[in-house]
Parts: sequence; C-alpha cells; structure tokens
Amino acid sequence: MAAPDAVDANLMYRLLVQGVTDYAIYMLDPQGVISNWNAGAERAKGYRAHEIVGRHFSCFYGEEERSRGVPHQGLETARRTGRFEAEGWRVRKDGSRFWAHVVIEAIHGEDGRLLGFAKITRDCTERRLQAERLEETSANLDLALAHMSQGLCLVDARRRLILCNARFREILVLDAALTQRGTPLSAILRRLIRDEGVGSGEPGARPLRPFRPAGAAIPLSRDLTRQGRTIAVTTRALPTGGWVSTVEDVTERRRIEDSILHMAHHDALTGLPNRAAFGAHLERALAANGATAVLCLDLDRFKAINDTFGHPAGDALLRTVAERLRGVLRGSGMIARLGGDEFVVALAGTGDGRPIEGLAERLIEAVGQPLEIDGHLAHVGVSVGIAVGPRDGADSDTLFRNADIALYRAKAAGRNTYRFYETGMDALAAARNLLQLELRDAVQTGDLRLHYQPVMDLRRDGVGGFEALLRWPHPQRGSVPPDTFIPIAEETGLITRLGAWVLREACREAAVWPEEIRVAVNVSAVQFARGSLEEVVTLALAVSGLAPHRLELEITESVLMSDSEAVVACLHRLRRMGVRVALDDFGTGHSSLSYLRLFPFDRIKIDRSFIREIGRPENVAIVRAVRALAADLGAAITVEGIETQEQLAFVRGLDCEEAQGFLFSRPLPASDLAPFLATRPTARAA
Ligand code: C2E
Ligand code: CA
Ligand code: CA
Repeated sequence: MAAPDAVDANLMYRLLVQGVTDYAIYMLDPQGVISNWNAGAERAKGYRAHEIVGRHFSCFYGEEERSRGVPHQGLETARRTGRFEAEGWRVRKDGSRFWAHVVIEAIHGEDGRLLGFAKITRDCTERRLQAERLEETSANLDLALAHMSQGLCLVDARRRLILCNARFREILVLDAALTQRGTPLSAILRRLIRDEGVGSGEPGARPLRPFRPAGAAIPLSRDLTRQGRTIAVTTRALPTGGWVSTVEDVTERRRIEDSILHMAHHDALTGLPNRAAFGAHLERALAANGATAVLCLDLDRFKAINDTFGHPAGDALLRTVAERLRGVLRGSGMIARLGGDEFVVALAGTGDGRPIEGLAERLIEAVGQPLEIDGHLAHVGVSVGIAVGPRDGADSDTLFRNADIALYRAKAAGRNTYRFYETGMDALAAARNLLQLELRDAVQTGDLRLHYQPVMDLRRDGVGGFEALLRWPHPQRGSVPPDTFIPIAEETGLITRLGAWVLREACREAAVWPEEIRVAVNVSAVQFARGSLEEVVTLALAVSGLAPHRLELEITESVLMSDSEAVVACLHRLRRMGVRVALDDFGTGHSSLSYLRLFPFDRIKIDRSFIREIGRPENVAIVRAVRALAADLGAAITVEGIETQEQLAFVRGLDCEEAQGFLFSRPLPASDLAPFLATRPTARAA
C-alpha cells in the first residue's frame, strides 16, 4: 500500500531518528497507514516494527475516540494546515494508557504532492499526572480558602496583597476593588482607619497602625473593631519576606471571655469585687501608697435571719447591705465581699486614724438601718475590725489578717462596734482561733460532758440540787476550763447548740434523781439573743419528763444588760411555765442591786469572791445587806465557793438557805451522784 516516495522518506527518516528513543517517531502514508516505526515507538507503544507497519494508526486510539473520528480529524488538519498538534490518552499494545503529546507533520514532495505524515508522539503521562495533582491541590486550596471561617490574606515583601479569601472581605467589610491582587496594604488600612474613626475615643476602637510581624514565624495577635464587631488579627511572617494574616470575628468569644473575667473577679450575688480581686487591689494600693486601711466587716445576727427567713431572704439582705456599704464609700475606697456575711473595705491614703473612725461609724450606722424582709422589719448589725498599713502590716496578707483579728475583738466587744488592730492581739487570736476550731469539733462529735456540783440546803442539811457544769476533756490540753471555752462558744454562736444540749442533757439526768432535788443550768446572754430559749427549755422538759419547778436557770447580770426588756419578758414567760430563775455571780458587777429590781428572781447566788475575802468587814456588810434585801424580795440565797468550815460557819451565821463549794464536793460526773447521795441524804430525807 505504501507509495514508493513514502518508502524513500521512510529511509530518510530511519537515518534521522534511528537512535531517538525519547520520542515515538513513525511515518504514515497519506491514508494514515503506518509505513515506518522507530525504536522510540517500539518502546513507547510496545509494538515491534514488523507487527505494526502496514496497520492504520488509529489503532493507537481508544474505542471512544475512534468512534468520534479523532484520528481522522487530526490527519485532516495536518493535511490542510501542514501540522496538527494535540494531547490525549493513547493506548499501548498491552492496553495500558499513556498521556501523549502528538504532533502530526505533513510531508510533501518537491512537487507539492503529499507524501505522507511524520507522527511524533511523546509520553507525557508523568507531567500530565503532576499537572492533574497540582490542579487538584489548587482546587482543594481554593475550596478550603473559600470555606474557612477565618479570613486570610497573603501579603508580599512589598506589602502588596497577593490574595485574600471571601471571608477576609466579609469580616473586614471591604469591597472587591480594595482586595485585588497587588493592592497596597496601606490602602486597606487607610480605609479601616477612616471608617472606624480611630482616635475619636469611640469605645472599643483600638488604634490601627500598619504593622509587620517582628520575627519570622512569631505570630502577632491583636484585636481591632470593625462596624461594632471585634476582629482578632493574627499575623505570621513568611520566609519570602511577606506575611500571612488571618482575621476572625471574635465578638462572641471576647464577650464570653470578658464575662468569665468578670465572674472571676466579682461576687455573683452582690456584683462586688471578690476576694481575689480585693487581694490584687490591696497589693497595688500598698505599693502605690503605703498608708492603706483595711476594714473587715462581719454582719451580726445574719445567720439568725438567714435561718428564720430562708436563703432567698438572706440573699436579698446581703444585696441590700452591699448597696448600703457602697453608698457610704461612694467610690472613695474599694469594697469587696469575701463570702458569707463578710465584707472588706480598702481605703487608700489614710494618714491618721480620724477619717477611718468616721468611715467605720458611717458603715455601722448604714448597715444598722432597719430593713424589710418578707414584710417584716429586721435589724442587722455589723462589727468592724481595722488595720492600717504599713504600721499594722506592710503586705496585704498581714494587713488583712490583722484587720480580721481586730474584727474578732470588735465582735467580742458586742455588736455594732469597731476595733483597731493592736500589737499582741494576733498571738492571742491565733491561740483562740485554734481553740475555737477544736471546740467546734468537740461540740460536733459530742466530746463535752456535764459534771454536777451539789448545792447544800443548810437548814435541812441535805442536798437541795445539783448545778450542771460543762467539762471539756481535751485529748492534748487536758481539761479545758469552761471560763476559757464558754466565752469562745458565745462569740462564735456555738453556745446556742451547746446550751441546748446542756439543757436537754441536764433535764434527762435530773429526771432520774430523787424528786425533791432540782438541777441548775447556766444560760448565756447569747442564748436569749439568738436561740429560741423558751422552745429549747420546753422541749428539754417535755422529752425528759422533768417537772418544770425542778429546773433552775442561772443567769448573770450581763444577760440583763443587753436588751433587758426582751429578756425580762422571756424570763417571765419561762417563770410562768414553772421554771425557776437564779441570779448568778451576784456582787461581781457594779450596779448589782439595781438588777434585783428588774426581775423577781427565785434565788440569788452570791459570788465566791465575797467568801474568799470574808475577813474584810465591807464584804460582811454587803452579804448581810443582800441577805436582808433577798428576804424582802422573797428570794433564797446560795453562797458559792465554800471551801472551809469557817466559811461555812459564817454563812450559817447569816442564815443563808444554801451553800455550794469544794467543802461539800467538787463537781462530779453523773455516775458519781448516786454514791454521793447515799452518804449525803437529800434535803427532804434529812
Ligand atoms: P459558775 O456558774 O459560777 O459556776 C461555779 C464555778 O465555781 C464552777 O467552775 C465550779 O467548779 C466553781 N466552784 C464551785 N465550788 C468552788 C469552791 O469551793 N472554790 C472554788 N474556787 N471554785 C468553786 P467551773 O465549772 O470552772 O465553771 C466556771 C464557769 O463556767 C461557771 O461559773 C459558769 O459561768 C460557766 N459555765 C459552766 N458550765 C456552763 C454551762 O453549761 N453553760 C454556761 N452558759 N456557762 C457555764
Ligand atoms: Ca452558775
Ligand atoms: Ca456562780
């Protein structure tokens, strides 16, 4: 089929392309039949020359291309224009495909007659696959950029925009014209500065300056404001000298961060700064201005109100108190809530004590105003402890601790008072603090015991009753005297629980004694003030079955000193129940005689200090006078502290009803009472 000319050309080409192996070079006759086949073609297509010469070149095309007439079109183009160039998938002998770059060159004879075609095919599969991979990668990158939640821009070393994504435009509200490739960054920044009015003092607006990251790969982060939104910009240097910036709308996140920050520094209930914020503030104030006062405040009677009216009422009360305290300070100092009913004030720039005293007084006065809870008028008081830096402490911890110690003193001194810290208070306070903790534990675990000291009826010469006295057998300290721990129990309010237990326990014990023997129980002023003493007494009597007249409550003058009207009314109600009331430790106060007129006591207990110094004539005179007065008022007399026969003889001489003291017996554990009664019969039996 091959034309003779084509065969010549074939020879010519064979010479030319013999050694060419990178290209498949072969000759076609004018109809497309293969007339020559080089080594490269053998390698590329897998056919040996004798297998392929004489076949039509369309055998290299896939079925689908053949049916579309692709081989034919290529040949036609080459025939018409002299050259055809294309790329496409081709098939080897073994059926495998390769990406071919194909050139078909028409070969004409000198007379212009078409001799045939030279076809050069290059295997470009590798390049093609690489391009495909690149295309895929780039498509994926475009996709990622387009769908990023962050905006991104790439800037070259000359500070011109290389690219940015749609989010970048959206977040920074920039039009497309400003974000073209090549736009100078300064143009974008100028727009932002113009729009956001930086420098106009607009809240939230932060200064915008063209900036570039300091060192390579160190990300720079800052926030800027755009149309009321907060945008975080993070910039990272690139090795090319340019940088990549991401922008993100962090409005929500910053809002949450701010509120977490606020929560971390404020008390949720009152909105006041909390302990952590206060500590930091105090530290700063001390550093900036040595003279700083710390006032620790603790509400009096808050617990009682909280228990009576419930927690919501307690919360409302704390909010009201916080408001009042804030009102007094009016920004002149910092006030914080430490938790519970504790508040603290820091006042900077305080030279001498004067302005602090005034402030403490105003705080006490403000808190003391009556307030309404659930339609009831309630009163709370506040105790204030004050420490002034640097005198009372150069660092915030010391100052704070010393103010707390002073507070402790203020509370001990009674409600609605303030106390300045004094050196030496802390050692005392430390010891008391420990004891207080231990006492709380002991009350909790029921480690306290009651002992009973007989009270002798001198006329009948028998036991008239027993006085219940608390004992605290401490594992390390030995027996802690009640004179030490009762005041602590009173200051901390523990006495309410403890006193209720004493009443229950004493009544329970007394119920098994001979009927004519009474039990005396000491009652603190705090029990009148805080607890519902009447209910506690009623309950103790009801549970034990003890007849009310066998219970005697011993109170001291201090009970009558505070709020005597309410106390006297309560005493009257108790007395109407049949309970007896004794005035304890008579003669230790100053205006003792006047208290006798306040309430018709059943008994007066003359303090043992009188008996101890019985040699002193004025003591004798006083005891005689009291004896006469008591007879007048219809009260019996018990003389305490009888240790010797002489003292007993003296008391007998005064015609006192009863006597109590170590001469008869020390306070005894309950289990020793029966043996004691066996040797010392009861008053009636005698
Ligand atoms: P008080 O009510 O005056 O109790 C009498 C105190 O005098 C008791 O001390 C008792 O042991 C002591 N005593 C009795 N006879 C003599 C004596 O011949 N010579 C001397 N030197 N002392 C004598 P105690 O038990 O240490 O109690 C001290 C105070 O503790 C009591 O004084 C009372 O005020 C208080 N107290 C004790 N138990 C309770 C309680 O259950 N509740 C309350 N609120 N206070 C209590
Ligand atoms: Ca007593
Ligand atoms: Ca006494």
